[in-house]
Amino acid sequence: MNPKLCSWFEACGQNSTVICHLCPRNCSIDPNLTGFCGIRKNIEGKLYLLAYGRPIALHVDPIEKKPLAEFLPGTKTFSIGTYGCNLDCCFCQNYHISRGHYSDAELQSDYDYISPEKIIALALKEGCQSVAFTYNEPLIWAEYIIDIAKLAKAEGLATVLVSNGYIEMKAAEEILPWIDAANFDMKGFSEEFYSEMSGGHLQNVLDTIEYFYSLNKHLEITNLVIPNKNDSDQMLDNYLQWVADKLDESVPLHFSAYHPMYKFHDSPPTPKLSLFSIKEKAIDAGFTSIYLGNIH
Ligand code: SF4
Repeated sequence: MNPKLCSWFEACGQNSTVICHLCPRNCSIDPNLTGFCGIRKNIEGKLYLLAYGRPIALHVDPIEKKPLAEFLPGTKTFSIGTYGCNLDCCFCQNYHISRGHYSDAELQSDYDYISPEKIIALALKEGCQSVAFTYNEPLIWAEYIIDIAKLAKAEGLATVLVSNGYIEMKAAEEILPWIDAANFDMKGFSEEFYSEMSGGHLQNVLDTIEYFYSLNKHLEITNLVIPNKNDSDQMLDNYLQWVADKLDESVPLHFSAYHPMYKFHDSPPTPKLSLFSIKEKAIDAGFTSIYLGNIH
């Protein structure tokens, strides 16, 4: 099965180089190479999505595990993810797949190909009420998302996105209307944090979240709390103020415990008491739906 031709790219210059406009990295990609995310490849001057039809994780999950606390509670969601990511978080909690790559054998095997039709058939067979695009960063395989979402709508299945929100607005306007519920990551509420720890820009993420909120879809946001890096009172105050100003205080906010992983081991695991204190502070500020996660 050949890879899918990508949307959101343009040819550039004389050497069959292409520029991908899906996310703010705007990778310039020479022939036979992939962009930073590792799954969008220049083949003879055109960009192809290697991950189309090739999920490496397929699971039936409780929807609360996404986490979505207030969307179709008590139901199962058919969850899929691929390799790759467009951010570069040194603390990635899922780096085995976010920094993973497809082998040539995987890409050449028709046996491993799972069409959008097959995804929907499996979701219905498992009694799921939604399909979730999750595990790695789904927006980098948006063409697969859109094709699955079109079929999901026809079968009455909801669509769920769990994402870092790092996407160009033009692409967001074509992708996010297909999504019914999303949980976006808030890595840390400052440009410095995104630059130093994630290799991206906060403003793009804020723009995506505001745009999704404007669509009147179901929105939740998750903040992985890393001691001494993104848990200062100032950062939390700024974050809560932004949510209150641009969204509203009823948007469910998740605060999750971090565990040292991947390249970053300078902070200890998040103490439970820190999370409890963040919850108390948010509730005192008028927020009505605060959830704590990863507490053991
Ligand atoms: S989606 Fe991938 S290839 Fe495209 S700009 Fe982003 S990181 Fe680069």
